Amino acid sequence: MPAANLDGSPVLNGEGKQVMHRRVVVQKLNRKWAQVKVPDCGWVRFRLTRRDLPSAKTFRVTYRNNGWHVAFATVPEPIDAPGNGEKIGIDRGVAITAALSDGRTLNCPQLSSKEQAEIRKHQRRGARAPKNSAQKTAEYAKVAKLKAREANRRKDWCEKTSTMLARDFDVIRFEKLNIKNMTASAKGTAEQPGCNVRAKAGLNRVILAQGWGLLHRRTGEKAPGRVEDVPSPYTSLRCSDCGWIDKNSRKNQAEFVCSACGFACNADLNASFNVAAGQDGKKRPRPMACAGGTTPRTRSSVREPQLLLW
Ligand SMILES: [Zn+2]
Repeated sequence: MPAANLDGSPVLNGEGKQVMHRRVVVQKLNRKWAQVKVPDCGWVRFRLTRRDLPSAKTFRVTYRNNGWHVAFATVPEPIDAPGNGEKIGIDRGVAITAALSDGRTLNCPQLSSKEQAEIRKHQRRGARAPKNSAQKTAEYAKVAKLKAREANRRKDWCEKTSTMLARDFDVIRFEKLNIKNMTASAKGTAEQPGCNVRAKAGLNRVILAQGWGLLHRRTGEKAPGRVEDVPSPYTSLRCSDCGWIDKNSRKNQAEFVCSACGFACNADLNASFNVAAGQDGKKRPRPMACAGGTTPRTRSSVREPQLLLW
């Protein structure tokens, strides 16, 4: 079979002047298998995961916990705006991964409790196995494989969700988060030790497991120029109906009841309405799901929102 690029066109050796092995030589063997010529290695057969092969200039062979992979680098076309003038606000949270201002709540898949128990079992067995034993290696390899599965699921979810957002909405507004600062350790220094260090470490793990950063980055890549970052102060404490800001409005993790106008709503949805309104802070029509009521306006203190441990 003659050498050909992934799209079937003849191999070109132009383009890649500064790079040595930019010539991607791929042969399709049959419907399911193909082979690629790896420099200093020769032909390597791989299982095809797509029917239409993309045209790639580079590829990478990696070994991960679940085996060897070959990935061809292509830059996908950005997704066109639907042109319907729709705006969406997204509030990223721990209990609900992404609350959308159209009332939907999206959750990033996590490992099932059965899978988590499986991880703990292999961690325990690995810890008890003798040092440098084959058993120890095998147990920890099983742990790594399960964790890789979780990461794959998260990535898949982020890809699907970002494509949906880019396809369905003209303007996508995220609340501005500084994940690096949010997940900074509470450990402190030897002179000034922090408090709730373990709790903060646990929260950090949960925050990082949500894939917030990846969702934002991939949406930006698929919808260039259509993603806006809205400064986040008070988005979780501000009433999306009347604009009143009060920490007492947030009753608990899930509940938001405005202390001024009585507007009641899921706390994450309320925040997503604020994000959708953006900096202009325009009122948006209240969806039917969130019923309002009337309670007397009470005096309240307003403070900078803290990272709440719940
Ligand atoms: Zn209100």
